Amino acid sequence: PNLLLLDEPSNYLDIVSLRWLTSFLRSWDNELLLITHDRDFMDAIITHTLGIHRGQIRKLKGKTTDWERTIEETEIIHEQTRLNQERKIAQTERFIERFRYKSSKAKGVQSRIKAIDKIDRLEQLKEIQELDFSFTAEPLEGKIALTLKDISFGYDPNYLLFKDLNITIGSRERIGIIGKNGKGKTTLLRLLAGELKPIQGSITYAPRALLGYFGQTNIERLNPELTIEEEITSANPQNTRTRVRGICGLMMFPSDDALKKVKILSGGEKSRVLLGKILVHPTNVLLLDEPTNHLDISSTEALLDAANDFLGTVIVVTHSEMILKKLCDRLIVFDDGKCFVFNGSYDDFLEKIGWKEEEDNLLSKQEVSEKNKKEQRKKRAEVLAQRNKILKPLQKRVSDLENKIIENEDKLKNLEEKLISIYQSDFSDEIKELNREVHITKQSIEDLFLELDEASRKLGEAEREFLGVEI
Ligand code: ADP
Repeated sequence: PNLLLLDEPSNYLDIVSLRWLTSFLRSWDNELLLITHDRDFMDAIITHTLGIHRGQIRKLKGKTTDWERTIEETEIIHEQTRLNQERKIAQTERFIERFRYKSSKAKGVQSRIKAIDKIDRLEQLKEIQELDFSFTAEPLEGKIALTLKDISFGYDPNYLLFKDLNITIGSRERIGIIGKNGKGKTTLLRLLAGELKPIQGSITYAPRALLGYFGQTNIERLNPELTIEEEITSANPQNTRTRVRGICGLMMFPSDDALKKVKILSGGEKSRVLLGKILVHPTNVLLLDEPTNHLDISSTEALLDAANDFLGTVIVVTHSEMILKKLCDRLIVFDDGKCFVFNGSYDDFLEKIGWKEEEDNLLSKQEVSEKNKKEQRKKRAEVLAQRNKILKPLQKRVSDLENKIIENEDKLKNLEEKLISIYQSDFSDEIKELNREVHITKQSIEDLFLELDEASRKLGEAEREFLGVEI
């Protein structure tokens, strides 16, 4: 293909696959059109940004941040121009009001009335609602929020997802849990949330720890028949209606939008309902399982800001390198069949350790390309052999015929020369014989030409067939 159309290709990809896809798309030479909510992924690939803003499509050269800056600048200019315009209109109206009844100014008044009518008035831009909230924190007094001691877990005790995991997590730490799909990240978070019990080891929370849990299964557990307001209230019935409505507003469900039923909501909207349910409680340990999965760029950034500002511990499962880089101080890594703690940032991790499975991937890619090369060489040899098998005998036939014709033409020339000399010496029997021979030779040349035509035609056809075949 020379045009790739990609609609959220990174949605269910884990970090390693996403990194691979990014480098693949970066090296894609032709056009591509990419829809994604992952700003870093997008900016790593694109040359132009096309955005829909206030119902209009705008395409600009550059990354998403360039696009946003241009839009912001355009709107600032729009607003300044609008204010100038309003000032001018007010001045003109004052002039008209003042001199309306003065005949000496009648001309000036008339021209101003016309001018005002002609003005194309700029509208004041409506504010665009964006997610903007903060988690309600009840900070822990101690320095430690929780301790995992030698914990092991597997749904099947013979197959452990992690073994002897040890980590002490501080009351203001931000921990990222990372790894490919299906390795046990969600499971670990469910253990931390108390939904599952470790096979071995212990998880100890600080005595006043209050969990806020954003789990993938919790989204599935939202009651489809409840309204947004009812669902959020259900998380803490002691909240007043005004407070719940306030939270609905913060989650971008203003006024009657809060009365929509959960069952009609999109993935992103359901994620916001679940965030709303966390906001109704004060917390000090946030457990977030891929919280940005369905959120758009600006909502993702709002969540990142809220997590950064949160006066408590944040433990997050994410495939977003942007969140890992901007939020996390330490990591729990699932890679290369192991689960281990990395005491450093994600950038440190990439620099010092890197994804083992990515290396394997690269290695296997090298192997694959080596294999491909071998296969290509083999195929090329086969095509060459096939080509030779068909073309060689045909070429030989054509060249043999050409030689025979030349031989015969030489012979004919000799015969004719002889004939001429015999004519001149009048040996009639010999003449007859020679004439016969001339005739035969001419005929044979004629036949050979016919054969040559046929052979050349076949050769041409065969050559054309091999013209498109890559060797
Ligand atoms: P991750 O979050 O890293 O994608 P999960 O923790 O969801 O991985 O799953 C880890 C492994 O455990 C997967 O092989 C998954 O199929 C399996 N698994 C998850 N939940 C259950 C369950 N309730 N019962 C049995 N196996 C499960």
